[in-house]
Amino acid sequence: MKSTPHSLTDLRGVGPALAEKLGRLGVTQPTDLLFLLPFRYEDRTRIAPIGSLLTGQRAVIEAEIELTEVVYRGRRNMLCRLADGTGSLTLRFFYFSRAQQQGLARGKRVRCYGEVRKGTGGLEMVHPEYRILAEQDPQPLDKHLTPVYPATEGIQQGRLRSLIGQVLESRTHNCADLLPAELAAGHKLPALDAALEFLHRPPAGAALDELAAGRHPAQRRLIIEELLAHYLSLRQLRDRVSHLQARSLAPAGDNIAKFLRNLGFELTGDQQSSIDIIRRDLAATRPMMRLVQGDVGCGKTIVAAVAALLAADADTQVAIMAPTELLAEQHRDNFSAWLQPLGISVAWLSGSLKAAQRKRALAAIADGEAQVIIGTHALFQAGVEYARLGLVIVDEQHRFGVHQRMSLMEKGSAGSFRPHQLVMTATPIPRTLAMTLYADLDVSVIREMPPGRQPVTTVAVSDQRRGEVVSRVKDALASGQRAYWVCPLVEESAALHYQDAESTHAMLSEALPGIAVGLIHGRMKAAAKEQVMKAFADGQLQVLVATTVIEVGVDVPEATLMIIENAERMGLAQLHQLRGRVGRGSGQSTCVLIYSSQQPLSAHARQRIEVMRETNDGFIVAQKDLELRGPGEVLGKRQTGLLQMRVADLGRDAWLLPEVQQLADELLVRYPEQVDMLIERWITRADDYSNI
Ligand code: ADP
Ligand code: MG
Repeated sequence: MKSTPHSLTDLRGVGPALAEKLGRLGVTQPTDLLFLLPFRYEDRTRIAPIGSLLTGQRAVIEAEIELTEVVYRGRRNMLCRLADGTGSLTLRFFYFSRAQQQGLARGKRVRCYGEVRKGTGGLEMVHPEYRILAEQDPQPLDKHLTPVYPATEGIQQGRLRSLIGQVLESRTHNCADLLPAELAAGHKLPALDAALEFLHRPPAGAALDELAAGRHPAQRRLIIEELLAHYLSLRQLRDRVSHLQARSLAPAGDNIAKFLRNLGFELTGDQQSSIDIIRRDLAATRPMMRLVQGDVGCGKTIVAAVAALLAADADTQVAIMAPTELLAEQHRDNFSAWLQPLGISVAWLSGSLKAAQRKRALAAIADGEAQVIIGTHALFQAGVEYARLGLVIVDEQHRFGVHQRMSLMEKGSAGSFRPHQLVMTATPIPRTLAMTLYADLDVSVIREMPPGRQPVTTVAVSDQRRGEVVSRVKDALASGQRAYWVCPLVEESAALHYQDAESTHAMLSEALPGIAVGLIHGRMKAAAKEQVMKAFADGQLQVLVATTVIEVGVDVPEATLMIIENAERMGLAQLHQLRGRVGRGSGQSTCVLIYSSQQPLSAHARQRIEVMRETNDGFIVAQKDLELRGPGEVLGKRQTGLLQMRVADLGRDAWLLPEVQQLADELLVRYPEQVDMLIERWITRADDYSNI
């Protein structure tokens, strides 16, 4: 038995430089390597007869060379024709040396590994890995499936395999199984050792399809453990918060009544009840940790404004953080209009402030003169000191990580008091998921929409009919409506056939003479973006061509048309968010999903578009989103902003959550001493404080 490596540099081939690279992947000790799991496997355990190959399959073949020749078809190609008695196949090389060409001589036997494609003259492998077999030297095949690890900055697959192999071989007692055997058995979970061994070295014949779907028991063991760690950390957070002190904010006076009278509309029942609960939370001496969840357009901003007013009236400061500069600016304008007439000072802090303005803002925040402070994450950067922070409001929370909530609370603490926290999200997620993701929060849901809203009609058309869409938009503009035209990227990317915002802007400006068409995208300076957005809100611009920067929060009630280019590339959550930009006034609104005709729609894209046409209800969209997002649809995952985890994928694994909760209850009662170690293993400290 080899000795157990204790530090990374005990492993063969690891020096300080590699140890540092590994550190950036969260690997600080040898056993951490075991938790970097393969994302797919290659089967090099058996030789496939050429006659059995299917296109798209990756396989090992062994065959005799019949002919190697260099041909010129536009460019130089080396073709090497093989046969194994069951069929024939061509190897194709675009880059090759003379020595390679001579090595692949007629009559030699080769073993190749590669992806099978359909070529002009039958099956092909392009640039396969290959080895010429010597007569007397039979090359053994692999005993295990070959793991393929996710691309890791500058660390080769081979190197990673060797390091993980070393740890697996030497591992004895230092990768503790943190799930007591009794609980694991009760939930039919394999032991940790066995699961890790299997996942890094699946035996020949292991069920590749089960592994690809993330449904193998060995994966389930790790997925459940990771979800459990996250869930426990949130329960722990909730528990810790309940022991912290906050100022009780119970303002007297009639500012709230005045504010509501000035609004010009009645609150919905759901808005009113959220406000009632927040008022009660704020009056308590433990920090409020409340999430207000409600679909786009349900009116969360008013709820936030009332909360801010309550805190400001109780003589404390309020920090309101939005995920984008644009959204923060809109809040600044709204809150200033609502609160300044009531004698409350509203301040602004963003990354783009000039040094002198920033200095002034910081001074006003530090001496308490600024009561409501609005901005981006700049609100919690080093150097920002609050005089008496009573409440932190985080808008569109899905953009912020779960573990950042605690860090916000730490940063905002003043003396022994912690601020209350209100987070608002338009990502309506199904209940089981909410109970896990937000286990540290109390949740209020706003389901009711303000009165008079009409559901948005959604239609889908191919980009070949873009001309018809343009003329419909023209008619609508003539009757005073306004339109958004959303494109995924700023510049044309030929490879992806995206309809880019700049060329769309040019196209529309020409097709719509006499109409003011604006352009807004993420690379513009904040001031320029604000100017364009304002012009659109004021009606100086009638069409706004935009990248997805307008995705969250921005409010222009007169906009009734939302045209989305390359809708097939976007996830459901993002499409729904974008559609939520229209249908905010009382007019009938329409959302047009334009899909590319360059390629046939994938089954998932087709279903997403179908869901959008069928429903306007964010909760249904979210449920479908979870059901539809298959493994590999990374696009959707990032857009919904669900937790990024190492092994688990909430979209794929949400069905395991009830079991995770049950396991957590059992663990807390019977083995509470395991909890900290589990959290420690799965949740790196680095996650907690990044991106804020
Ligand atoms: P979201 O929940 O997406 O943040 P907003 O707070 O931006 O939604 O509200 C959307 C629009 O609805 C705003 O123009 C707002 O003034 C309006 N609104 C909010 N509440 C009501 C209400 N009770 N009655 C009428 N309009 C409302
Ligand atoms: Mg909002």
